[in-house]
Amino acid sequence: MAIMDCMAVFEAKHIGVRYMRGGKPFAPFSDVSFSLEGGRIYDLTGPSGSGKSTLLNACALMVSRTEGEMLLDGASFEGMKPNEWRRQVCLVPQSASLVPGTVRDNLLFPWTLKVNAGSPRPTDGELAELLNKAALDGVELDHSAAQLSGGQQARVALLRAFATRPRVMLLDEVEAALDDESALAVSRLTRCVLAKEAACLRIRHRADDGYAYGTFTLADGVISYEQNPAKPTNEPVSGL
Ligand code: ADP
Ligand code: MG
Repeated sequence: MAIMDCMAVFEAKHIGVRYMRGGKPFAPFSDVSFSLEGGRIYDLTGPSGSGKSTLLNACALMVSRTEGEMLLDGASFEGMKPNEWRRQVCLVPQSASLVPGTVRDNLLFPWTLKVNAGSPRPTDGELAELLNKAALDGVELDHSAAQLSGGQQARVALLRAFATRPRVMLLDEVEAALDDESALAVSRLTRCVLAKEAACLRIRHRADDGYAYGTFTLADGVISYEQNPAKPTNEPVSGL
């Protein structure tokens, strides 16, 4: 039904963050509200220092002094253990560091954490399929992660996050340091692996890649939203 289609996967209401600076509180923003619908990619832009990274960190419960309400499928974060929330609201930072070892070690890293202990570990076949989706077909599971190019490492970091099937992906400039081709591969990969019921919010500074449904702008503590004129499809694409 239409109502279900439009239900927000994620809602942030009246979010405020305070940092301590030289013993005094400093708030990049104090009342920010937004919502994300399933199957959609959104961009978050705004001047440097406006609080974009802070907002993503707050959504993933990474900032201690956060006020406001956050809901996942209508359920408040307050009723959930922080680790369980973070498994479902997954932040990929700008320079996501891979762990030493092979590509397989990295893709399976989430399963070394207690919070994923109950979920089934992907097989080698499933991992190889993920690499294929990321256009990493020349990369073997046994390859050393440290020997991958920057673009390949960024895609492995993204796959590692997607492998646990979060409901919300928060991407903080994950393609900032990449060449145009690798950046486009990251965008395609995001679209490809984003499930119909999951949402993605991306901080990015590159030219519009046509994948975002709408764009949030954070400036002077105020968030605004604009629907993108050419609405991308709500359906995940089947291949790359
Ligand atoms: P953006 O990602 O939009 O560039 P940030 O969220 O990184 O902005 O930073 C917003 C503001 O908060 C900046 O003024 C920054 O200096 C400040 N800030 C960020 N992190 C911290 C922190 N851990 N402690 C104190 N101030 C911080
Ligand atoms: Mg930032």
